[in-house]
Amino acid sequence: MTVSTNVWQCKRCGSSERKAAGECKPCSRARNAAYYAANPEKVKAKQAAYYAANPEKVKAQKAAYRAANPEEKKAQNAAYYAANPDKVRAQTAAYRAANPDKVKAKNAAYRADKEKAKARKAAYYAANPEKMKARMAAYYAANSEKVNTRITGSRNRLKIRKSLARLFSFLDEMSKVTEK
Ligand SMILES: [Zn+2]
Repeated sequence: MTVSTNVWQCKRCGSSERKAAGECKPCSRARNAAYYAANPEKVKAKQAAYYAANPEKVKAQKAAYRAANPEEKKAQNAAYYAANPDKVRAQTAAYRAANPDKVKAKNAAYRADKEKAKARKAAYYAANPEKMKARMAAYYAANSEKVNTRITGSRNRLKIRKSLARLFSFLDEMSKVTEK
């Protein structure tokens, strides 16, 4: 077996994730974590001093990191919520009470996004009814057993039937629209 030499690999841990400066990402993370575990107060003081001297820079860096790693933030939030459900609920309630307009605006934006996505989907169905029908038929042909087991065996039998019926009537309607 030949190993590609184009892909860089860390000699210590085998990772191919590298920082811009060339350091291995996992190893660098592990080193930082070990240093932090050994010197938490020192690190905290250093970070606080850096933040005090460069607040905008730190904020921008944090925002950029969050934007580049949305899954990490989500996982962190989920873990925090799992560990502190009552605290999170109380915080959320307090935030809502203090910022009703912000909450309203956010909900409205969320609904508008949802409507937009729905409209996009409907437009796609309307423009490609045959394609959608063919795709569904192909999926059923390839997974008929799965679909059937799901339909006959599941407690959600009725729900699935209903949603399929809804989908089919929707497709029919859409094809009527385009036939006009
Ligand atoms: Zn490494």
